[in-house]
Amino acid sequence: MTLLPDDRVLQLLSELKTAYGGFTWESALWAECASRRSPYRTLVLFGLSARTRDALLAGMCRQFFRRFPDAPSLAALRQAQDGRESVADAARSIVRPGQLPIVVSIAQAVAQDVPRQRDALLRINGVGDKIAECVLAYGWGEDALPLDANCVRVLERVFGLEKAQRTPAPLRESLKCVYRKRQHQFTDLSIAMVDIHEILRLHGQVCCGRTPECFRCPVSGCQSRRKPWGGSSGIETPLAIWDDWRELINEPAAV
Ligand code: SF4
Repeated sequence: MTLLPDDRVLQLLSELKTAYGGFTWESALWAECASRRSPYRTLVLFGLSARTRDALLAGMCRQFFRRFPDAPSLAALRQAQDGRESVADAARSIVRPGQLPIVVSIAQAVAQDVPRQRDALLRINGVGDKIAECVLAYGWGEDALPLDANCVRVLERVFGLEKAQRTPAPLRESLKCVYRKRQHQFTDLSIAMVDIHEILRLHGQVCCGRTPECFRCPVSGCQSRRKPWGGSSGIETPLAIWDDWRELINEPAAV
């Protein structure tokens, strides 16, 4: 898979990691709080994340986890019996109508346990590649690489990708391929596979939709640069939203 050149990928990620030097990446967080990480909460949060802004998602998940704090509490309601409340009835006031089907599917899936295999995750109705990769990476700590539209936009601009190349699946596989081939260099840079997603996603806020802020961007050799880099040493990161959802995928701290 040669869609993205190894050396340029490493250079891009290294430059961005340096620029966001104050950020705590998922690999470091996992090392600290793996024992609190909840695959159930991770599946719910990313399952509800499609077409939901981060700020709204955090509030929605907080409510959801108050009502369904763990997998058994959700699975117990998966079928309405003898006039009892169903999952859909209980979740209706928390999520949008379009999200009810995935909530019901998750309730069915977690009656056993949250799957740790990609294929099993993909069998949950409403779970696609990105959610499956998120659950593997954030819920189980596996080598996995979610790649959202922000990440694709950064790659597309830096590498000047053709329209046909701007889809997450081949880009994900290409990045995974580079990661595996050059794993020792990624290790030297302290970049785990999941961190690639975070580095690109974070930079999507500078390399934003219509008007990328190229004057704030240190990436060298970008094929789409519109303005020269202003040369500042680092990029400030809005951490509050990241902190919100990162805490939500942990089991609540014991008091
Ligand atoms: S130089 Fe501009 S277009 Fe290129 S990655 Fe940076 S912000 Fe995006």
